[in-house]
Amino acid sequence: MGNLSQKIFSVAHYVANKVERPAVILLYHRVTTLQQDPQELSVTPANFNDQLAHLSSDYHVLDADRFLYHVKHKKAFPERSVFVTFDDGYADNYQEALPLLTMQQVPALFYITTSKINTAYELWWDDLERVLLNTDNLPLTLDIRINGHTWEYATDSPLATRETYFALQQVLRFCKPAEIAAVMQQLYEWSGLDATGRPSHRLMTWAELKALGSATYAAIGCHTHQHPALGMLSYEEQYTEIGLSKEILEGVLGAPQVHFSYPFGGRKFLGSKRYYNADSIKACKALGLQMVCANYYGQVHSWSNPYALPRILVRDWPLAVFRAHMQQFFKY
Ligand SMILES: [Zn+2]
Repeated sequence: MGNLSQKIFSVAHYVANKVERPAVILLYHRVTTLQQDPQELSVTPANFNDQLAHLSSDYHVLDADRFLYHVKHKKAFPERSVFVTFDDGYADNYQEALPLLTMQQVPALFYITTSKINTAYELWWDDLERVLLNTDNLPLTLDIRINGHTWEYATDSPLATRETYFALQQVLRFCKPAEIAAVMQQLYEWSGLDATGRPSHRLMTWAELKALGSATYAAIGCHTHQHPALGMLSYEEQYTEIGLSKEILEGVLGAPQVHFSYPFGGRKFLGSKRYYNADSIKACKALGLQMVCANYYGQVHSWSNPYALPRILVRDWPLAVFRAHMQQFFKY
């Protein structure tokens, strides 16, 4: 985003937040300590604990039912309202985040991608990292077929391999699930690895998911079955992806699911490539989902669209940095 448009957005947010007290939805993915985290999506348990203590003392953290009530009935939020969400369904959400949430008495909503639950397989961006950034003695070049075209990438130095990882990660985001699986298969053959993932990057088991679902400080939402960029799929394909995750979660948890978040979820797009579109909203409504989160910067007000709520990504910030960010999130 350019400097000028950034300023215009800040001013627009500032004015909206003056008109009505905003609520802020925070987005987390993982709470654990990793050897490498190229996507910077993991928060260490120590920093997470400090962040929760700060939220609990200085903010008004709403649970999923309460937040949904305000969104659905278009009611203004209490002062300094915060909502904590997690995407994807990593095992550490249950093992490391839940005990801290419970200790600090902070509720959170966990959006679950169902296809890799209870398996030894990693989500594809982690799998890509495992193959490219976590494997020694890779071949010096990578020829790979994606959507009918062959591309050549350099893997002859750590720097080149890292660039290849980030480039492929961008390309695969907008591929359909079957194409991503085909690309990963080529990568396994090229690297000599198999599909079995690392325990450090697994998703929850059914038992962990059930335990999370019945925990006092946790609620569950859907996040598609295979985590595609919905905007690349037909309406029918989107309906199936969203509906399947809802059906599976309802079966396992024995409770109706009304929450959903878009995979990736950004509003930015590449040409005709989008993370979600009008059909995504239509499919969510048809499936009876009531509150849907996206992933773009902004605050929530009573007039916000309940089918594309903004969320703010939290990084592995120490307390002082987190505190400063929180102050800013509520102003601009
Ligand atoms: Zn996700």
